[in-house]
Amino acid sequence: MPGTFSPFDPEAQHEHVDAKIVAALERLSQAFRVLLWEVATETGLSPIQIQFLVYLRFLPGGTCRIGDLARRFDLTPATVSDAVRTLAAKGLLSRVPDPDDRRARLLALTPAGRETAGRLAGWAGALQAYLAGYTDAEKLPVMRFLMNLIAHLHDAGVITVARMCLTCRFFAPDRHDDPDAPHHCRLLDRPLRLHQLRLDCPEHEPASG
Ligand code: SF4
Repeated sequence: MPGTFSPFDPEAQHEHVDAKIVAALERLSQAFRVLLWEVATETGLSPIQIQFLVYLRFLPGGTCRIGDLARRFDLTPATVSDAVRTLAAKGLLSRVPDPDDRRARLLALTPAGRETAGRLAGWAGALQAYLAGYTDAEKLPVMRFLMNLIAHLHDAGVITVARMCLTCRFFAPDRHDDPDAPHHCRLLDRPLRLHQLRLDCPEHEPASG
């Protein structure tokens, strides 16, 4: 029963699926830290600096504010500012005028920053290589389970930003009879195949917004 045992108690893990899942996710978070630190050690960048570079590399438009990074990575603006200052000093990031606010500045990768971010973008390659050994049919339930979990943590206030279909006001679940494409995006006005459910959609608008 939830709450009557610690998932970090090995004895409880023997008996409870929930405990094994929570403990396994905790081990995975540790694996991400290890993989990031391996790259960090090689490059002289911190893990969060690497994540900022890779995030900006693939961000539509390529620019954002310090506050956007703070919300996306659940950090304080002061922590983000420190990392941004270091990246700017290394010539990987620059501050450019914000066309929507003349007093504000946007963060953008420099050419050297784009090149570095491109090299670092495969930092989670060990996981990708493992997943490549499974079919989509095997992986889709896992994907959906993880998305449900993220949506729940977002609703609970643990995760600040979750720009995914499951938290989007345009998402219409189970709109179609097609088992391969049961859901619908009202913005794009098209069915969504299961593998097309988005985890980070630029068109996302919060369901409660
Ligand atoms: S706008 Fe994006 S996040 Fe929202 S339902 Fe459509 S595809 Fe999903």
